[in-house]
Amino acid sequence: MEQRLSSRVRGIAPSPTITMDAKTKALIEQGQPVINMSVGEPDFDTPVRIAYAGIRAITEGQTRYTPAAGTLALRRAICRKLAAENGLQYTPEQIVVSSGAKHSLFNIFLTICNPGDEVILPAPYWVSYPDQIRLAGATPVIVSCDESTGFKMTPEQLRQAIAPRTKAVLINSPNNPTGAVYTEAELRALGEVLLEHDVYIVTDEIYEKLVYDVEHVSLPALLPDLKERTIVVNGFSKAFAMTGWRLGYAAAPLDVAKAMTSLQSHATGSPSTISQYAGVIAFDAFDPDMVREFRRRRDRLVAGLREIPGITCAEPQGAFYAFPNISGLFGRRFRGQTLENADQFCEWLLEEDLVSAVPGGGFGAPNNIRLSYAVSFEQVEQAIERIGRFVSKLD
Ligand code: PMP
Ligand code: GLU
Repeated sequence: MEQRLSSRVRGIAPSPTITMDAKTKALIEQGQPVINMSVGEPDFDTPVRIAYAGIRAITEGQTRYTPAAGTLALRRAICRKLAAENGLQYTPEQIVVSSGAKHSLFNIFLTICNPGDEVILPAPYWVSYPDQIRLAGATPVIVSCDESTGFKMTPEQLRQAIAPRTKAVLINSPNNPTGAVYTEAELRALGEVLLEHDVYIVTDEIYEKLVYDVEHVSLPALLPDLKERTIVVNGFSKAFAMTGWRLGYAAAPLDVAKAMTSLQSHATGSPSTISQYAGVIAFDAFDPDMVREFRRRRDRLVAGLREIPGITCAEPQGAFYAFPNISGLFGRRFRGQTLENADQFCEWLLEEDLVSAVPGGGFGAPNNIRLSYAVSFEQVEQAIERIGRFVSKLD
């Protein structure tokens, strides 16, 4: 066999966030006291009420398949949530529940993209979008957004990027990895450009609950004329500390939702029944203390990073990541080698001072690194000290 693997998977590298997390966990298992700021998952436990709903589902025999798109009860609960919290009216037929929002996104790109299509992706972006878009045969068209615009795409940038082949535009607010949150005015300005072009909008709102001093706004609620070609993605992982339950959802125009459901019915079938039973009550069990604690850590981390010479750090307004720019350190020397990029920085920081971070390259931002503050406040303080110590060792 000349090529054992399909051309589809040959271009795909493992997710850098998950790879870094696995590497870090292996070091911790070997007894190394690493502070793991690599992966993006809340360090809180799933609220106990939600956990018990899952246990009850098992003991009461709710352990069989459900409809491929999820139970009607959960899809109704999602419709109520979208109406009450986001000002969006959907029917249960327009909701597709999947095994995590990552799976929802994968279904979406496979459902709306043809080979040759383009998807506009503002950078910095979450690591899985470009590969998922490519797996669907489409091409990600990267729009670079840096600190000068708060890491946000401007209407001019969007207008320039839209081309005849554009099939969809992705918006992720609050953003992973930057924590940027689009204001209502900024979203409206982007929406007005989108009104002029017949393209899909995929809006990933999975961090909506994790905002600090700003409000999350959903684009189709702001400009209802866009709703017929917008797909809203959300999930339970971040807001309810349910990463391992694997539960996410999409709200879509009816034809898209139906096609996604057919696709899913052949791929995974229904998402976990147990998780769905827990999901139904999750919306009533949100814990605002988690947000308060994240904010305390963010404030400490950002202030600490800003005190380290050579590092700058924009203030994230949402999610649980800081995304400092470390390019001021490039060219400095460590043990006879020149620091050339963020990959090296993360590698050396991990080996030398035991803090695990993700280099920005995988997010489309090679001058930055991502630090997740979903670790304890004490670990945030220790991490600042360790990063400072590591930087002071650079000549
Ligand atoms: N979107 C973004 C922006 C994320 O950071 C994540 C976290 N991995 C996801 C989607 C997917 O989350 P999950 O599959 O756990 O619902
Ligand atoms: N969203 C998280 C992160 O960015 C989880 C890992 C992943 O799925 O990429 O780290």
